[in-house]
Amino acid sequence: MDLLDLQEIRVHFPLDRGILGRAGGIVRAVDGVTLGVGAGEAVGLVGESGCGKTTLGRAILRLVPLTSGKVLFEGTDLAVLSPRALRPWRRKFQMIFQDPFSSLNPRLTVGESIAEALEIHRLVAGGAERGKRVRELLESVGLRAEHATRFPHEFSGGQRQRIGIARALSVEPRLIVCDEPVSALDVSVQAQVINLLQDLQKARGLSLLFISHDLAVVEHLCARVAVMYLGRLVETGPARVVAREPMHPYTQALLSAVPVVDPDTRRNRIVLQGDVPSPLNPPAGCPFHPRCPRVEARCRGEVPPLRDLGNGRQVACHLAP
Ligand code: SF4
Repeated sequence: MDLLDLQEIRVHFPLDRGILGRAGGIVRAVDGVTLGVGAGEAVGLVGESGCGKTTLGRAILRLVPLTSGKVLFEGTDLAVLSPRALRPWRRKFQMIFQDPFSSLNPRLTVGESIAEALEIHRLVAGGAERGKRVRELLESVGLRAEHATRFPHEFSGGQRQRIGIARALSVEPRLIVCDEPVSALDVSVQAQVINLLQDLQKARGLSLLFISHDLAVVEHLCARVAVMYLGRLVETGPARVVAREPMHPYTQALLSAVPVVDPDTRRNRIVLQGDVPSPLNPPAGCPFHPRCPRVEARCRGEVPPLRDLGNGRQVACHLAP
């Protein structure tokens, strides 16, 4: 059994009527996603901005309401729990946000920010234990104990993300949803934070759902990857295998945009035409068909299901073997 088992998750946002009284419609941000994350496993969720990956991450943590589906965590459906019943579960799953600065209270010192979660969940008996735990957490993410008395604005972006990670770790979660945690950082700092997450994941047996637009980063960090387009999964599988032999035309296009360091490896860039269609009015048939370089007649009328191809791979394309 997976630690986290998402079943047919839908997050739809109804729009209000406009001033002319026209029906507002429904934004299908997430439209039937089924995905599991095993204990101690890192799974990457990849796609362009607007594909619904951040909304899915927030729905898991109940930060946005679910329209339908199950969020099974250790076998319990979190989607149906009352806010009170959900409270004891909250420490088991945490989130790291894209913008580390806005996720930290500027009026609290770093030590107070980290201690807040320890106190809410009554994880420390008193001040001495709290201080010791804060120091340990700071050191576990590569910061120093004396950083506890400083304020967030005194740190660089990479250091703030380390503080965010320390705060997430403070409640000893089993799962961390990482929402584009390095995309706002310099490239040199990105690698340090990715390596830190990898070390922590291995040392603590953490499960990660790593949301990113960057397939190369996901391949480095994650055992499995799920590719999302317009609210749906279009390809899933072992990250290395998918990165080497992507089967869905959308994954192939994403991968073709990743720079290659080895001069002997050549990759033909696939430039997708047009923008991602609006989730308010998704195309009929395959949602990718208006941009797909391999589109056929049936793609315009038939939705390709996410089919199991064996060896842990699933693809939603009529042309997949
Ligand atoms: Fe392209 Fe058709 Fe496959 Fe969709 S089903 S990805 S349009 S080939």
